[in-house]
Amino acid sequence: MGIVDEDVARVRAATDFLLIAGEHVALKRVGRNWMGLCPFHNESSASFSVNAEQGLYFCFGCQASGDVITFVREIEHLDFVETVERLAGRAGIELRYDDVRESHDRQRRSRLAEAVERAVDWYHDRLLTSPDAARARGYLRSRGYDGELVRRFRLGWAPDDWDALAKALRVSDDVWRDSGLGIVNRRNRQQDDFRARVMFPIFDAAGTAVAFGGRKLEGGEGPKYKNSRESALYAKSRTLYALNWAKGDVVRANEVIVCEGYTDVIGFFAAGVARAVATCGTSLADDHFRMLKNFARRIVLAYDADAAGQAAAERFYEWERHYELDVVVANLPAGADPGQLAERDPEALRRAVTEAHPFLAFRLERALGAADMTTPEGRARAAEAAMAVVAQHPSALVRDQYVMQVADRCRIDATRLRSLPAAPSLASSSRSGVHSGPNGAAVYSRRRGGGGQEADGPELEALRLAVHRPEDVAHRLEEVLFADEVHLAAFRALAGAPTLHEAIAGADPDAGLLLQRLAVEETTADGDDVVSRLVAEAGKRVLAGLEAEARLSSEAFAAVAAKGTVAWLRAELARLPAVDALDRLVPWLVRWAEEEE
Ligand SMILES: [Zn+2]
Repeated sequence: MGIVDEDVARVRAATDFLLIAGEHVALKRVGRNWMGLCPFHNESSASFSVNAEQGLYFCFGCQASGDVITFVREIEHLDFVETVERLAGRAGIELRYDDVRESHDRQRRSRLAEAVERAVDWYHDRLLTSPDAARARGYLRSRGYDGELVRRFRLGWAPDDWDALAKALRVSDDVWRDSGLGIVNRRNRQQDDFRARVMFPIFDAAGTAVAFGGRKLEGGEGPKYKNSRESALYAKSRTLYALNWAKGDVVRANEVIVCEGYTDVIGFFAAGVARAVATCGTSLADDHFRMLKNFARRIVLAYDADAAGQAAAERFYEWERHYELDVVVANLPAGADPGQLAERDPEALRRAVTEAHPFLAFRLERALGAADMTTPEGRARAAEAAMAVVAQHPSALVRDQYVMQVADRCRIDATRLRSLPAAPSLASSSRSGVHSGPNGAAVYSRRRGGGGQEADGPELEALRLAVHRPEDVAHRLEEVLFADEVHLAAFRALAGAPTLHEAIAGADPDAGLLLQRLAVEETTADGDDVVSRLVAEAGKRVLAGLEAEARLSSEAFAAVAAKGTVAWLRAELARLPAVDALDRLVPWLVRWAEEEE
């Protein structure tokens, strides 16, 4: 595993779960717990609950559950060690590793990240203060960037020099190379990768600097934009520019705007829409969607999505279905990119997002808008083109509605349209537009929020108390009092572990899930009352067995003994909730259970 257990526990204890969860979920206090819309499944009413004191969460909808480490892991797509390292970094805890090799890799990554971070600072400082950056500053001013924006995005300037950064950083050759900052040339000298470029530092979702995009100035050499090479820190397909700054707003709005360029993103921020991200010199890929689905359900494409072609369209539909997302296209004026629109008309940029169209509607508009609708031949061609677009959508229900639109616009009968050569293939699609919910979602949906606790029997109530107020009940509970297998397993896990977290970790999956859920539920139950009801139920179970024994026993002696015990047990049970009866019954039940074995 890598990190020593003790340090993992320290990190968990030092981390404020509410603070972390609050970056992704809008949480509202409900009683002693907090509730919000689950970031792990699509829902419209809150079933994601957090027990802040214990740092545990449970979703009554999809049963996602865990502690702050699981939460960060799932939402940021990190592995366990990365997650603990990130949280340790926030909490200022130095970690110890029990595996030397792993420790070495981690240290190496953090050395690379440190080098990139220093480069960010150095480039930024050059932009702000260096005389040779005057043209870069002029360019940024001309695009409407003020000092605040430049600082917010930590923009920089790579001077027109072949080793200025290398000389400033003075890192070892392998760190230099592996961090993607530059190369070691044939004469064994470190050489900068970026020169004479405005620098846009790229951070991962957690805010660690991982790479750069560099834009050349007018008359400069090479392509307009240049990106860092991929490195141990930086994979293009898993990085979205500005997600580190945007994610709070993205979660609040349940919407993320995806642009093609850094300046488009900054344009959105400047226009007051702080939920834009950009792919880094690559097209939107599966990994991007897997990341985004944790943050928002609505993906607004703020670029010419039609140019990406039909293959892209099919992928979008597939992602919509698979990740239960809505992919829409911002209604940008023809030919305008968001960066320019932000300078010219920020209001129009904001409107382009609110007036976004579903991807299919957008493509249809493209097909029909360009057509000549004045002649029957023109309308027929338009209809064919439009139907080819409609045919790609995997849902028959969705397709059918668009067929009606095409029929209206082209003045062609819908039945005729459906029989066009392009159309039949869509009917055979095996994919359906219906989303199936997560398995077993209904199992725990009964107890959303507070209230309604009467529905639970004393076993669950006792476990809930044992989780929340162990001092009230823990010492009075015994295994024999639990008839349900999962309840019993949960009780054993609780009784055998010093903390709730360790109990959850040590329990079998069903019992662990139950404990997670109980941790986010509330109880106002009275310990004495619950224990008394619990003992009464256990007593009645034993009583039923003894009565059967007394009736069925062929041996007279056994029958008499059983009858005597039955009479005693009945009398004691009738005296409940008297404390003296309780004090006699519990040890008797324990002994009875031992003899039964
Ligand atoms: Zn959920």
